[in-house]
Amino acid sequence: MPDFNQPSEIAREALLRLAQRRIAPTPDNYLTLYNEISGATTPEIFPEKSLRSLLSSLPRTTPDQLKLVRSLDQAVDSRNWSTLGQALGGILTRIGAEQPNWSGVLRELMVQIEARTVGLTPAAKRESLDHVLASCTNPELLHQRLQSLLRSWSRNRAIDDRELVGEMASVAAIPASTPAVTPPVAKTGSAQTAGDWRELVLHLLEGGIAPLLTDSSSELAAELTQIIAAARSVNGTEQLATLVTRLRRFTYRLQFVAEDQVELRQALLQLLQLLVDNIDQLVVDDQWLHGQMVLVADLVGQPLSLRRLDEVEQRLKDLIYKQSALKKNLTDAEGKLKAMLASFVDRLADMSEASGLYHDKIEKCASRIGSAGSISEITDELDVVMSETRIIQINTIRSRDELNEMRTRAREAEEEVGRLQQELAEASDMVRQDALTGALNRKGMDEALNKEVSRVRRHRSTLCIALLDIDNFKKLNDTLGHDAGDAALVHLTRVVKETIRPQDTLARYGGEEFVILLPDTALADGVAAMARVQRELTRKFFMHQNEKILITFSCGVAEIGTEEPPGDTLKRADGAMYLAKRSGKNRVLAA
Ligand code: GH3
Ligand code: MG
Ligand code: MG
Repeated sequence: MPDFNQPSEIAREALLRLAQRRIAPTPDNYLTLYNEISGATTPEIFPEKSLRSLLSSLPRTTPDQLKLVRSLDQAVDSRNWSTLGQALGGILTRIGAEQPNWSGVLRELMVQIEARTVGLTPAAKRESLDHVLASCTNPELLHQRLQSLLRSWSRNRAIDDRELVGEMASVAAIPASTPAVTPPVAKTGSAQTAGDWRELVLHLLEGGIAPLLTDSSSELAAELTQIIAAARSVNGTEQLATLVTRLRRFTYRLQFVAEDQVELRQALLQLLQLLVDNIDQLVVDDQWLHGQMVLVADLVGQPLSLRRLDEVEQRLKDLIYKQSALKKNLTDAEGKLKAMLASFVDRLADMSEASGLYHDKIEKCASRIGSAGSISEITDELDVVMSETRIIQINTIRSRDELNEMRTRAREAEEEVGRLQQELAEASDMVRQDALTGALNRKGMDEALNKEVSRVRRHRSTLCIALLDIDNFKKLNDTLGHDAGDAALVHLTRVVKETIRPQDTLARYGGEEFVILLPDTALADGVAAMARVQRELTRKFFMHQNEKILITFSCGVAEIGTEEPPGDTLKRADGAMYLAKRSGKNRVLAA
């Protein structure tokens, strides 16, 4: 077999063998033959397309499945067999590790059902077991629930219902041996304890447990209503014993609802995380969106609280606004550019048609000149040539001007799109924020105020609204200039933000007026907090051209009344602020 040293020789031989062996001339087959001739090893082809279509057919319904398929997606991205192998290995290890120990649980159940448990008959245990078996189809969840059922049986083995009834009867002042009467709700002695006890249990069931069941089983909610009614009218030791048993069964079942809710929350958080991760990947081109998503991702990573979720919601709303506006603009721009391209092509077509006609005419003139019999005939033809040339010259100049004009317009349109995008980014940034200071604007404040007020009503907590107005700001503007005035506003914002608590909200209410919302704060504490801001401003001077400028403000603080509309509270704070101005400025007054 001859030696092939030159790449061109190897290439020719490879083509020859493709033809001789009647192999399809695909790039892969060519490469295999080339390597065979040159003696190089053929790197194994990575079947990316097939793997992708395989992955796209896998189920992605649960967060877990999504996570697993995503890890495979990423492994395929690397186009590397060993990375893919590692990803598959990881999944197998996980599945192996998560396999529930069924034989252990079943054995334990067999032992526990028959074992003597004080206060729980085997029939009651079977009933709970039935309920667990009927309540879920997911094997992992079922395993967890069976385990917690076993735990609750062993926990309850130590407590005797009869002891509990005796204790409750004595607390409720129900004589355990004589027929009982309804415990009187008196104000003294142990009878008062009885009334308190009943009220406490009722309060717990109605106010604490019932709201938890609104999204869960209606059967359990109905059972709770019946238990509440029974607890209201319980009479005598026997009824009390029945109630205790009912309560105990109810508590078992409630346990599963609580577990469900914990899982639900975890699943929701996982979904949110997934969403955040994916959006972040989709918007890598847009710095603004990217920044927002980093913020949202950061918030999602922290422990859950309603305040935090509100913030996430707000950020996402801004994000959606920005995205939809951006999309519309880009579609418009795309449309404009398409239209321009179309007329550009039309112009070109016109030009080539015109020059085609010109060439035809000139050719005809040339043949007529060739066969002309006299000078005058030639002169006539030359006139035609001259006039045609002038026409095509004018046309060409016109077309060139038009094309130039079109190019300028396209450039202008492009600049306009850029400018709009920039404006849009700034506008969406400013949806709830004041552009100069970064504090919330009026709209942002209204939203924050509404949320705080509904929180106050829900938790029966307190909320202070403080309104501050910078003293003699016009003078500062007049003496140092408007830019220095702007910088002073930014400085004040920074000092206020550094001094108030993270849960407090600062908003720019008007030119040099700011509102601060202080949740869970009584009036005296609100006044003290604003006085602290006042002191901080005397420590942290506003610097203008190396000169220390003291900024002071007058402030009114009002605490919202139980039924008071927030607008009225704000008015009261405003009134107190004006009073502070009239009393000599640089002071904080309570409304
Ligand atoms: P007082 O102590 O009674 O509050 O007097 P004042 O001068 O602070 O109040 P006045 O209402 O007379 O003037 C407010 C000034 O604030 C007038 C306005 O030009 C200025 N101002 C409002 N918004 C801005 C801003 O964004 N930047 C700057 N530099 N000045 C602003
Ligand atoms: Mg003012
Ligand atoms: Mg002022």
